[in-house]
Formats: sequence, C-alpha cells, structure tokens
Amino acid sequence: MKNLIFCLSIITLLFGLYSCNEEESITPNDVPEAAFSQTDDHSPLAGEDRTCSMQQHMTQLMSDPAYRKAHQEKLTRLEGYAAERSANCTNPTVLPMAIHYQGISNPDVACLRELAISQIAVLNADFQGNNSDITNWDNNAASSFPGISNGDACIEFCLPTQGHPNGFNLSDGEPAITINQTNGDNASQWNGYINIFVRANLGALGYSPLGGNGNGDGVSIDANAFGTGSGCGSIAPASPYNLGRTLTHELGHYLLLDHIWGNNGGCNEDDEVNDTPVSNQPYYGCPNIGASSCSSTDMHMNYMDYTNDACMYMFSAGQATRVEGYVNTSLQNVIAKGNAICGTTNPPAPSCTDGIQNGNETGVDCGGPDCEPCAVAPTCTDGIQNGNETGVDCGGPDCEPCTEPAICAAPENTTATVTSSTSALISWDAVNGAVRYVVRYKVAGQNPWQNRSTTNTQRILNNLQPGTRYRYKVRTVCEDGRSKWSDTKSFTTDSSTSTECNANELQFDLTLDYYGGETSWEIFAENGSVVYSGGNYPNYQEGANVQDDWCLEDGCYTFAIYDDYGDGICCDYGEGSYTIADGNGNVLFTSDGYFSYVEYVDFCLGGDSFNSVQNRKSTKPRNRIKKSMPGSAKE
Ligand SMILES: [Zn+2]
Repeated sequence: MKNLIFCLSIITLLFGLYSCNEEESITPNDVPEAAFSQTDDHSPLAGEDRTCSMQQHMTQLMSDPAYRKAHQEKLTRLEGYAAERSANCTNPTVLPMAIHYQGISNPDVACLRELAISQIAVLNADFQGNNSDITNWDNNAASSFPGISNGDACIEFCLPTQGHPNGFNLSDGEPAITINQTNGDNASQWNGYINIFVRANLGALGYSPLGGNGNGDGVSIDANAFGTGSGCGSIAPASPYNLGRTLTHELGHYLLLDHIWGNNGGCNEDDEVNDTPVSNQPYYGCPNIGASSCSSTDMHMNYMDYTNDACMYMFSAGQATRVEGYVNTSLQNVIAKGNAICGTTNPPAPSCTDGIQNGNETGVDCGGPDCEPCAVAPTCTDGIQNGNETGVDCGGPDCEPCTEPAICAAPENTTATVTSSTSALISWDAVNGAVRYVVRYKVAGQNPWQNRSTTNTQRILNNLQPGTRYRYKVRTVCEDGRSKWSDTKSFTTDSSTSTECNANELQFDLTLDYYGGETSWEIFAENGSVVYSGGNYPNYQEGANVQDDWCLEDGCYTFAIYDDYGDGICCDYGEGSYTIADGNGNVLFTSDGYFSYVEYVDFCLGGDSFNSVQNRKSTKPRNRIKKSMPGSAKE
C-alpha cells in the first residue's frame, strides 16, 4: 500500500506527467489528505467535493423562451408516454456516442481510444445495472429501501466506427473520436450523436443539459474525471472520481434525470421520480447507509447524488423507466442514427446518390455522393420536435413561423407550507395578466389530480390524508388562455396525532373571511384550561374551509372565537362563518360570523348530547374602520 500512496502522490503533485501503472482501485480512506494539498484550483481531485454545474447550465439555457417551451414539451410528451417495459431487455435501444477531446498537446491516439472505450463500458454497465459493485446494493443497501428496486435501462451506448460526419478525417473502422477538433459544448456536425466533450479545467466535474437534444449538444466532463485506469497524459482520471461515474451522473442529466435531492434543497422538492426518497441535500464522500432526511432513508448511493465514484452504484427502477421514456419520446433522431451506424460490422457506407433514401441511410439525400452534410429546412410535421428543429411544431410543413396565441407565464416560486395533518397552504409569485390561478394536486404515485382555483396567490388545500406525500403544481389563467403548469413539487402532510375518541366527538367547521390572519379560537374547560385552539390563518383565503375534530369528556365548556381587528368574520370583508357538529356531522350550532372582537358559545356535554347552548357576542362595539382591500398591503 505504501507504493500505491507514493505513486498517487506523484500523479497529483506533477499533474499527471508521470503515469502510474497500479491497477488496484483506491478508496478515499487509503490516501492521506496531505497527499492532495497541492491541487490545481480548477482541477477536481481528492479532498474536493463533487461539483456538477448542470443547474447553472440549465438556468442559462432556460433563459431562452424557445428553449423553455421546447423543454416543457419534452416533459409533456414524457407524461403522455405509456411505458411498456418488459422484464427482460433483449433488444436494447442503441445510442451512438462521440467523444471529443479538447486541448491536448501530443495526443496518444491509441491511449485515448482505450480510455474512451473504458468509459463507455462503465456507462453501459451502470445504466444496464450490470456494474460489478451492484452487489453493494443487493447485499447491503437494498434492505434499507423496502419496495424499491434498482433499475436497468434497456439502452446501450455505442462508439460507432462508421458513418462519421465529413470534415473530421475519420475513416470507416475508426471510432467516433475527435482530438482538438471541437470547441466548447456543442458540435453541430455531430447531430444524432450524444457528444462527450472532454475538457481541461472545466471548473466542475461536469455538466449537461437536463434532457439533451441530440442536435450536436452533449455532456462536458473534466479531463480528470473521464474514463478509468491510468489515463493518457493530461487526460487522467483522478481519485475519488476515477471510476467513470461522473459521466454516468452527467449522462443521467442528459437523459432527464435530476439530482436526487431536487436542486434547491429542502424536503418540498424532489426529482420527479416516484421511487427515489425525498432528500433535502446532496451527500458527499462516502456516507453510511441509513443516513436520512425528510423522514426517509436517503439513497446517496444513487448515481444522481454527489458521492464518490466508489460509493455510488445504482439507479432506481423509476429512474430507468424515466430514461427509457425520455429516449423514446425526445431522442428519436439519436435512435435513428444508432440504428444506422451502430451494431453491424463493416456494412457498406450509406450512399444517397440514387435520389432515394434507403433504409440504412439516415441522412438527407441531396443527390450528392453522401447523405451528409446537407442543409434542408427542418420539418416539424411529425408532431415531434427533433434535435435539429428549434421551432415550434404546429403540425405544418415547417417549424417556423408558427403563431400561437400568447399565453401568460406559469407561476414561479411555488411553495407548500404544511399546516396540519390534513391541510397545506400552497403559495406562489403573482403573474402579470393573471385572471386566476389553478392549483392541481394529488397523492404522489396515484391519480387523479384535483383542481382548486383562486384569484389570490395562495390556496389552502384541505381534507388531505395525514402523513401522506402529495404532488402539486400551479398554472395561470389569463385572458388569452392558460399557462403551462409550474414544475411539479411535493410536500408531505404531518402524521396524524389523533386517536380514536372515546368521549364526545365534535366537528368544528370554519369558513374564513378575507382576513384569516385576524381569526383564532379556543375552547376552555370549566377550570379555565384551554383544551383546543386554532388559528391564526392566512389572509386572502375567503371561503376557504378549516376543519378540526374535538374529543371532549362530559362537562361544560366555552368556545371563543376572536377577531383581532374587531369586525368579526362577516360580512364586510368576506362571508366567514362556522358550525359545530356532532361526530355524525349533525350540526349543533351555527354562527353567522357577525360579531366584533369575540363570540362565545357556552355548551355542556352529558352522555353523548350537546345541551345548554348559549351564544354570547362581546359587548365591545364592532370596529367599522375601513380596511385596505384584499390584495393590497394591510397596515
Ligand atoms: Zn449533476
């Protein structure tokens, strides 16, 4: 082990000028921290946390309205896609991949080809669930995740050796690898491929669009995180990111998998995959199995977390299904390219000179000696926005121009505040031109959705199930139509603390006025102790319903409902009211909500009856000072 440490130290200190031939894998604990003290600021090495700048990249991409729209359409298509997965993957969908090394002096071509092949082998093993360390899941981790299976996506990445685009001096028989022939994170000549750009000093281990297009775009990866083994000069995998998992993670993004904790952190956001537990933050390094957040065990061994290469080893079945769905609904151009150039060995080069596009020709026949390159107007008539189409598919002969009625923006910054075991408050930023908003919610993993609408920027959801995870989204309704839905988020209601009532069961039902923030209530027992209380509630939820169950022993009680402003809950600013009913829902007392600062209901319970009811309004006069109208700031 001493030699191993020495050898790694040399690599680190000299930035890969020397190569190390040790083949044993290194775990982080084997290497003293000091060995990595002199690291390049831009080079991710041991001791530094995993970094992925997918989210920043997406923020930039999504600033383009056309991209945003196209992205939303991908999600819509995926939603409408009925996954039909067979238990066995006998005929995987083949996806061609091209590797583009950038900024290499004195490249060792043979070594770089081997390195690329090592990386693609890792990708195929990881996505197909054939990785040797999946045993860590089977033997150690799986028991902490009852009911959740690891996933095997029925896809296969290939490194084509034929059908290369012109202009890169690549002959048939040579792999789709370029060296110092591309720049940045796009190579439009390589549309139809998933492109991997291996770049020095990237500033992060990697990044990718969340849902790539196969239009020349791809994944960028740092030169110190690509492939496995001892590397090739400056392109050298460095521990603990030397097992090829950085590209597994980034390619997950390319195939529409989000970070497992969502992105902003917290328990109200997740990754849109049903079987990955909600987690409130990334994990780094190599955490213990069983670590938890958000009341569930966290799946930090998932490729979409931030742990070390050696400590991530699985996708969930839900992630695999999402990947397959994305490939089949949005990457048809990549599938077509793969069908044409992967798989068979040494087929005749596609020829388009006959003016007929034959079955194995994916290019466009322009009458020249080759299918490609050939510029034609993108067509959108298929109802699918393909990788090289930037326009909007309206079913016409061309992507553009295409006019659609202007629609308003979807609400942003949606948040959920759980207010009880059966209720939650959803709120969002106001949208210009909004006439009203629709909140849609459902139990996670179940159907159907339920809708609630409001003219305000928040809405209470009532009658929810205790301890249950819900998904929700919000859309704007404006004069011209409706916006897209906001991103789907989730919340979990509090676990129920109620137990069966063996005394008098009462149901309290309160309808709020506009100023729920002024409303609260208490129940006093005869000795003056408060046995139940509620409020205050959110403002501007006029008509919203609040319910509470009371379980009271025989005896006499006083119910008091307060309005802090002194104008009751009816009728100047909305028509609030309340009822008290027995356990069977028979209403025992109804209030019109017209009082000043407080209204009392005195009642006694004997056996199972509700008797001696007396209603008292407070003697203080009702406050008639005019308040600001709903929607504007209140003093
Ligand atoms: Zn990432």
